[in-house]
Amino acid sequence: MSEEHQQAVCNACGNGHVEPITLPPGNQGQRCRTCGLIWAGLQEVSREVYESAYDDSHKGFKWKGRLKLHREAKAGRDSPLPWFQRAFLRTVRPAGNKRILDIGCSTGHFMVACSQTGWHVAGLDISCRAVDLAKQIVPNAEFHCGRLSDAPWPENTFQAVTIWEVIEHVSDPLAMVTRAGELLTPGGILAISTPDWGCWAVRSHTAPNYWPPYHVWFFSGPSLQALLERAGLEVTSLRRNPFAWSETLWPKLKRYVALPWLLWRGVVRGEGGGRLAIMSRKPAA
Ligand SMILES: [Zn+2]
Repeated sequence: MSEEHQQAVCNACGNGHVEPITLPPGNQGQRCRTCGLIWAGLQEVSREVYESAYDDSHKGFKWKGRLKLHREAKAGRDSPLPWFQRAFLRTVRPAGNKRILDIGCSTGHFMVACSQTGWHVAGLDISCRAVDLAKQIVPNAEFHCGRLSDAPWPENTFQAVTIWEVIEHVSDPLAMVTRAGELLTPGGILAISTPDWGCWAVRSHTAPNYWPPYHVWFFSGPSLQALLERAGLEVTSLRRNPFAWSETLWPKLKRYVALPWLLWRGVVRGEGGGRLAIMSRKPAA
């Protein structure tokens, strides 16, 4: 396990008003009293933690689901995308010769959809095992296996960069978002999704992979917005899905069984479901 340290400054807003908090299952963390960001205070997340997401050793991970998506893609069949990826593809159009980088591309599922809509795609993942699978289904793409800080692309390369379900895992979200901004051309779009700490279902999740050392940053709307603004980006939209039912692999039947509970939580309690998605723009020069 990585060495713990007590960061005195919030990674998202830069404020120093932090207080201790206990995270399940008994991890010590910190909470920013200004923007609400919560973190586990790990100095460095080990490569072994990331690689464990890509084998069958950990019941909490969805590796079998990823392999199924991979088989579907190889067979030329489309599989459903999460709502935030569909919203991105509807909103950000790849007119002309536009390039997109998917940071944390995993086995390349989202890259396939980008390629089909006309983007020139590049993908980066810390897992070489995942990148090798992605290469099979997006053969014309560029890839980098490793960390963003070691990636080969120069500044001002991409018209869009996406970071889906990754920012909660990394050692330094501000460094990642800042580097993503540098890779964008002026006016380019950075889109991020992450579990929503404002959602009760996320705060009470029992799967080990929702907690340290797998997830080490816990964002809500204000902290995610603060992070992007601190990196010099202009936030253009912040969305949460109304109900926590839109995980693509959750059988549809459960939606209807759970409907009364979801309505109560989503409408009465005002807690959205599951994920936050934010879009931002690099200022034009
Ligand atoms: Zn903060």
